[in-house]
Amino acid sequence: NSFYIIDFMNIAIVGTGYVGLVSGTCFAEMGVHVTCVDVNEEKINALREGNVPIYEPGLDEMVLRNHGEGRLDFTTDLISVLDEVDIVFCAVGTPPDEDGAADLQYVLAVARQFGQNIHKYTVLVTKSTVPVGTAKRVKATVEEELKKRGVEIPFDVASNPEFLKEGAAIKDFMSPDRVVVGVESEKAKEMMSKLYRPFLLNNFRVIFTDIPSAEMIKYAANSMLATRISFMNDIANLCELVGADVNMVRKGIGSDSRIGAKFLYPGCGYGGSCFPKDVKALIKTAEKKGYPMKVLKAVEEVNENQKSVLFNKLGTYYKDDLKGKIIALWGLSFKPETDDMREATSLVIIKLLLNAGCTVKVYDPVAMTECKRRIGDIVTYATDMYDAVLDADALLMLTEWKQFRLPSWRVIVKSMKHPLVIDGRNIYDAAEMKEMGVEYRCIGKLRI
Ligand code: NAD
Repeated sequence: NSFYIIDFMNIAIVGTGYVGLVSGTCFAEMGVHVTCVDVNEEKINALREGNVPIYEPGLDEMVLRNHGEGRLDFTTDLISVLDEVDIVFCAVGTPPDEDGAADLQYVLAVARQFGQNIHKYTVLVTKSTVPVGTAKRVKATVEEELKKRGVEIPFDVASNPEFLKEGAAIKDFMSPDRVVVGVESEKAKEMMSKLYRPFLLNNFRVIFTDIPSAEMIKYAANSMLATRISFMNDIANLCELVGADVNMVRKGIGSDSRIGAKFLYPGCGYGGSCFPKDVKALIKTAEKKGYPMKVLKAVEEVNENQKSVLFNKLGTYYKDDLKGKIIALWGLSFKPETDDMREATSLVIIKLLLNAGCTVKVYDPVAMTECKRRIGDIVTYATDMYDAVLDADALLMLTEWKQFRLPSWRVIVKSMKHPLVIDGRNIYDAAEMKEMGVEYRCIGKLRI
């Protein structure tokens, strides 16, 4: 006999980007009534017309269906829905500011709007990735606005960091390894338990913590993953120097159950909208407290260097005589199944190649439009993966899209001016490549 009775859940999600749109759509799929809010009118209008502005496998169909069935609405006006919702999620961007700390202006703008306009108990949940202590600032901001209005309206803040991966976002959201919810009141805990009940029914774990711990979990998780990548890249580079094969090493250490096999793949550097930004932000948080995060600083440095490893291998092969060479790139997005190019290794490599006087021909199954938007026509956009390698002096493989995994080497060797393939994701078989007449280079293994 709770004093607040909720018949059905009605929530608003502010910020309709990757996280806001995916989580909103997935909650709607679970029967919750969701209104997705964004300041970007174009985005909201497109969604209303059934056009999903981001590429995410399976998302289009789910958005259209839930919108059609009346559980998923879109608006630019948070105020118009505030009286009807029990929970407001904040899923706006938290980009790094000039010195690498998370820029909280959008999160705090939502808090202000919330404080200026609520009329009844509502929970404000931060889903954006925000530094420890942000919930406190959000709470203070809301309180300040309520005070300005001269009203006393109960509310709670909570922290519910998101762990979804772009490219597998729906699966990650619907079948999470865990959901982390930081709360500071029983009432908020009950509301959040109810919202996540469909997930609990499926035996997924919801871990309740205090708010600072929830905020920290997100940064610690991403930083740990970034650390594994940089560690393996360091090991891979050393393997090349001592004559070991990092693929064998990876399998050998990954079978230790204390280490585990996941996230041990070396490559040409991590990118994306999360790892680089979150590692930087955690370093900054620590700095502000006078504590140096030595491991994470090294993680960043290793990653920066790793982004030029393919270019360096190319330089070594051609004895630094790269002027006039035609170089093909396969893969522009920072990882497969997304068009996201934030902090992508491709951007670093394109710059290095152009500075060295190369002509660059690129191909990506979905990120070509995004690439054009970012860098325009300073590179040549190929019509398909085979067109990209025509007359090329080398092919650099940057993103392991499925369609790049088993190409026709016969066609490629015939098309290229010189059949040099530098594989930044270790997806090809060295022996097979040799057989096909390809000069093959990869990460963490000397050529055979
Ligand atoms: P995004 O840039 O794709 O989307 C953010 C949206 O917020 C934009 O559409 C923007 O117009 C909107 N917005 C900004 N201010 C607003 C306001 N005052 N009112 C309404 N809308 C506003 O960002 P994203 O990738 O979805 O990331 C959102 C947050 O989630 C970030 O903190 C990010 O670190 C975190 N996160 C992202 C991922 C990921 O894979 N992308 C995963 C986990 C967590």
